[in-house]
Amino acid sequence: MEENTPGLTLLGLGAMGTALAHAWLAAGHRLTVWNRTPGRAKQLVGRGARIAPSAAEAVAANRLVVVCLLDDASVGETLDGADLAGRDLVNLTTGTPAQARARAAWAAERGARFLDGGIMAVPPMIGVQEAGAFVLYSGSRDLLDEHRDTLAVPAHPVHVGEDAGFAALYDVALLSAMTGMFAGITHAFALLRREEISPREFAPMLAGWLTAMTSSAYGTADQLESGDYTRNVTSNLAMMVEGNATMLRTAEEQGVSAELLTPFMTLMERRLADGHGDEDTTGVIDLILR
Ligand code: NDP
Repeated sequence: MEENTPGLTLLGLGAMGTALAHAWLAAGHRLTVWNRTPGRAKQLVGRGARIAPSAAEAVAANRLVVVCLLDDASVGETLDGADLAGRDLVNLTTGTPAQARARAAWAAERGARFLDGGIMAVPPMIGVQEAGAFVLYSGSRDLLDEHRDTLAVPAHPVHVGEDAGFAALYDVALLSAMTGMFAGITHAFALLRREEISPREFAPMLAGWLTAMTSSAYGTADQLESGDYTRNVTSNLAMMVEGNATMLRTAEEQGVSAELLTPFMTLMERRLADGHGDEDTTGVIDLILR
């Protein structure tokens, strides 16, 4: 183990916490760990980790304290009773923007600097530099700058703002977009399911098509920033709503429920009925803002 690599504490050794621990140990960091169920920490001892008998003692061991637990409530429970004064607390537990902001205020009251993080990776990608993993961070930029080398070990750090809620907001925005994509993939495979078509042969075509279509995000961003939703429209709403009818008829013909498609299509129709046939789908954003 290298002598000069800074030490840190990690609370939480679930699937993600364990992957983080392995990455820091492999990079030669002195690591103190704690997990609610102690058995999970044992496998790390042979790799050089130190097990703290309690969360409070783990927090006392190092200035940099990383928390990767199930949810915000478990973070509160775990850190209740720990002395956070002078600590640099990095919360890699997934939560909402409001939870992150409340946790930042909570940490400040206890004398800690705070950084919230959203891990954009699954455990096997952690510590694998070419895997494309990154961690969204928001909150104290000074904290990130000071511990950048350590925090860069598991995945590339991306700071998205001093507002502690922003990492969670970006994280959930990306996951929400992914959820829509999963719905589309699910419907596409359902359409083919009863035919003599190999899903494996279809998959590369589907992945390539989705990849090509993702550039629409830039067009939407440009329209939102300019305020002109008719700018550079290549497929207008009037035409797309016609296309929706074909998609719905095809679902019917193939014996597939259209329930994954109809919520978005209904909003497109509403925007068209409001007289925006020369736009594309950007105006739907205004319809769903409450
Ligand atoms: P796991 O379910 O594998 O582990 C959960 C961890 O939280 C365990 O260490 C568990 O301890 C601990 N825990 C749960 N409740 C409490 C509590 N009340 N008090 C103390 N400790 C508690 O989850 P992951 O490790 O996969 O996920 C951890 C975080 O990372 C989550 O917020 C998740 O959203 C996020 N994340 C996970 C990804 C993934 O693909 N796995 C991807 C991106 C983010 P115990 O062992 O005692 O049960």
